[in-house]
Formats: sequence, structure tokens, C-alpha cells
Amino acid sequence: MTERVLILGGGTAGWMTALALTKRARPGRPLAVTLVDSAAIGSIGVGEATVPAILDYLTSVQADVPALIRDSRATLKAGIAFQDWRAIGQRYFHGFGLYGASAGGVGFHQVLAWLQAQDGGQDLRLEDFNLCAQMALRGRFAAPPAQPEADHDIYRWALHLDAGLFAQHLRRQALGSGVQHLDGVFEHADIGPDSGAITAITLTDGRRLEADLFIDCSGFRGLLIRQALRQPWVSWRHWLPCDRAVAQPTAGSGPATPYTLAQALPAGWRWRIPLQHRIGNGHVYASAFMSDEQALQLLQAHQDGEALAEPNWIRFDPGHIAQPWVRNVVAIGLSAGFLEPLESTGITLIHSAIDKLLALWPDDPQAPALAAEFNRASLLEMERIRDFLVLHYALSERRDSEFWRHITAAPLPDTLVHKLAVYRANGHFVRHEWETFQDHSWLAVYDGLGVRPQQLDARLARFQAADVRQGCEAMQAAILRRAEQAPLSDAEVLARALQVAP
Ligand SMILES: Cc1cc2nc3c(=O)[nH]c(=O)nc-3n(C[C@H](O)[C@H](O)[C@H](O)COP(=O)(O)OP(=O)(O)OC[C@H]3O[C@@H](n4cnc5c(N)ncnc54)[C@H](O)[C@@H]3O)c2cc1C
Repeated sequence: MTERVLILGGGTAGWMTALALTKRARPGRPLAVTLVDSAAIGSIGVGEATVPAILDYLTSVQADVPALIRDSRATLKAGIAFQDWRAIGQRYFHGFGLYGASAGGVGFHQVLAWLQAQDGGQDLRLEDFNLCAQMALRGRFAAPPAQPEADHDIYRWALHLDAGLFAQHLRRQALGSGVQHLDGVFEHADIGPDSGAITAITLTDGRRLEADLFIDCSGFRGLLIRQALRQPWVSWRHWLPCDRAVAQPTAGSGPATPYTLAQALPAGWRWRIPLQHRIGNGHVYASAFMSDEQALQLLQAHQDGEALAEPNWIRFDPGHIAQPWVRNVVAIGLSAGFLEPLESTGITLIHSAIDKLLALWPDDPQAPALAAEFNRASLLEMERIRDFLVLHYALSERRDSEFWRHITAAPLPDTLVHKLAVYRANGHFVRHEWETFQDHSWLAVYDGLGVRPQQLDARLARFQAADVRQGCEAMQAAILRRAEQAPLSDAEVLARALQVAP
């Protein structure tokens, strides 16, 4: 039976997993959950932007969301502003909401593209029909209506949070729920000679800890999955060449923007994440195209406040562990995989892995069929995210540096080639199993990069251009009005969002 669970690592992944296991394990069969980490080693200290699925996680662990927001000095995130990705000086916005209103079963993006082809209506931009984006770009936000009247009323929100404070909050909750915490440094794992499974881990102070199931949340080190069980890492650097980051917080000034800024730079991009007490900044870059010194200089040239800490340098190899669940070890968090921070998928992958593990919870910790399903789904999920991230780079019109010339000429994954071909052909979204990002997210990036369907839905032939124009203009005006009337201040925005959250 799986009764004793040992989690190695107390970063975001370790504490999210510990809390979820105690809150959601099968009723009547409590688990003995122990988490081991090392204060001397610390955690990665980045991972501050989330996607709306964070609210699903918080609901699932019955979190006190206002307390979490207070403790982790969180701000609201309604999407990401992409600056200079299509071309220098151009911006597009990936908001967490739908566009316009579909008509007669035809998606709004098709209706608008048809209208533009009919009467050249270039004054109507798709982004104007995304209420979530329009509010965020004005520094405003209103809670999503309980009774949406059109597609554009359907949107969600997420959080920016201080990674260290977030982990501390989770830790307090997990300890209060019965998780046992041990501070110590991992030394080695004992592996059963017949089973090949881990039977115990030993810490450098000699303590030996046995368990039925081991969860590897030890970050990039992958102490159990990589080092003890020798699972290989699959690198996707040929598709996603950014492999380093330098992060540095600065003092904040003025109200926090309710979105992350992702600005493309000559060999990667930089993030700007506003929190209540500071701004998180980072530059993600490809070491094949830029030196560490240049990367830091460029980051600091864009920072708009006094630096609050020394730069934090991080190296990574974009990719994933070949199999995250092997025998009685499940890898969650950076030990399982990391592509890069664009679109903020690290924390949502942790939540999704926890969900999968709980759904497939093994009575016998060695359950090959359950492990195979976990691994199959995890790989599909990573591949879908990979394709979405590659899209951001591959269709850029930038050719102003070696990095951009390289990345726009590189071959694409076959799955992305197919998606793009179908969208280009008639504006249809290919939906695979285990997509993290839904149609409206793909649309935001397609449209932002100037990808337009060549042919449109044949049902549009029923429409009259003048009627469609009138309807679109009225909708555009209504959305802009609502965006301008939405609450402005951070505190008010969060308070109102919380009335319907999560
Ligand atoms: C540059 C960058 C930016 C990112 N930005 C985002 C973002 O905006 N949004 C997002 O969702 N995700 C982001 N991520 C991903 C996010 O940071 C991680 O998914 C998240 O922090 C989880 O990390 P972790 O807990 O797996 O690993 P870590 O935080 O590295 O934790 C590892 C734990 O293992 C422990 N440990 C290690 N070795 C030992 C040992 N020998 N003995 C005992 N304990 C040990 C450490 O003490 C620590 O507690 C980013 C990642 C990077 C690299």
C-alpha cells in the first residue's frame, strides 16, 4: 500500500505537492507525508507569473486566497503584453479571455477577417474585441460577469506572486495539515536489488528515511529521477535555444500593471512582473548568441528602478525527463521538465502533475500501467506547450540579429507545422489532447504575429457586410466603454475579482 510518501525538495513544487496530498488524499486513508529540503541549498527563487489554472489549484486545496495574496504580495495578472516580437515597435496582448461574439456557429475571428476582406475594415482590430486585454492595457480590471452575454465576457485572471513568499505560505498551510518537515541534505538513495525501486534515502547527517512513494521535487538536480534512477533528459534546445536567465528585482514605482511584460530582445526576451512590494525582472537568452555580461547589461538597461538584490543567474536545458514516473518515483516541477518561462507554464505544470498523480493514485506504489499513463499524458502536455512557445519565435518578422535569423529559419515540430497549416488554410484551430492553451490563446499569438487565414468559413456567405460592420462597431464601442469604466486601483481590482473567485 502507498501510505508513506516522501517529497524531496521544498521549492514551489514540493510545497504545492505536499499541501495537495494532505488535502486531497482519499478520505479515511490519510497519508504520512514527509518533506525533506535544505535551507542551506535553497530554492530557485524565480517563478512569479502564473496562468488562471492557479485558481483551480487554490480551490482544490481550499486555500484562503485573500491571505495568500497578502502573504505573497501578489498582484493581478490578466495576460501578457508581447512587445517587439513580430517586429520592433509592435505589440500584441495575450489576454486570458475570448474574443468578440461568435455568429451562427462561426468564430468571431472568422467573422472579423471576412468583414475585413469585404470592406477593407482595417479600423477594426481583433484585440479591440478582447475585453480582458482592453481592461488590462488600461491598468484596469473587473471581475468576470457571472452570466456572460457574449464570448468576450468569458475571461479569467491569474496572479503575479513572490516565489519565495508563496512557497512559505504553502509551507505554513502544509505543516498545518500534518506534513512532517525535515531539514537535511540528500546524500544517496537505496535501490532494491530486485525491484529497482527506491527503498530509502539517506541524508548527509546519517538519517535514513524510508517511504513507499518518493516524489522528486529537487529541481534541476533531479536527485532521485535523474541521479538515482538514471532517467535521461530530453533536450529541446534545437527548438527553444534560450538556455540562460538572469533575474534581478527592482523597487517598484506607481501602480502595478495587471499584466506581465515580455519584451523580445536581440538574443531572447525580458520579463517584467509587478508585485506589491517590488518588480521582478529577468532576461532569458540563448548563450550561443549572447554572453552573460551582455545579457546583464541589457537587462539593467531596461530596468526602471533601484536594484534590490544581486543578479541571480540560472542555467537550464529546455526539455524534459524522458519518463517522470519510474517505479516508485514521480518527478514534479523542474526535475520533470522546463521549457522556458515564456507564457509562465512552470507552476501550472506542477498543478497538472499533481492532478494526474491524484487521479492515478497507486495502491501499489509500483504500478506500471498507471505510470505509463502519467508519462504519456505528461509528454503530450509538454509537447503542446513546446509548440505554443516555438510559435512565438518562429513566425517573427525580426531578422535584426543572428538569434532571430537563426530561430526564424529553424525547422518546426511536425505537430506545429500541421496546426499552422490548418489555421492558415481556413482559420480552424487544431485541438490536441492535453492542450494547456486553448483556442483564444493560439489566436492571440497568431493574430499578434500577423498570421491570417487564407480562406474562411463558407457559412459567412449568408451574412451582409453592412449588418456585420454595424454589429462589430457597436460591440467594439461597448467593450471599450466597459474597459474604461472598470476599476483602476490594484486593491479594488483584486477585491472585486475575489468576489467571484476562484
Ligand atoms: C528563469 C526561470 C523563470 C521562471 N519563471 C516562471 C514563471 O514566471 N512562472 C512559472 O509558473 N514558472 C516559472 N519558472 C519555473 C518555476 O520557477 C518552477 O516551476 C518552480 O519554482 C518550481 O521549482 P521546483 O520546486 O521544482 O525547484 P526548486 O525551487 O529549485 O526547489 C528545489 C528544492 O530541492 C531542494 N534540494 C535540492 N538539492 C537538495 C539536496 N541535496 N538535499 C535536500 N534538498 C535539496 C532545495 O533546497 C529546494 O527546496 C521559471 C523558471 C526559471 C528557471
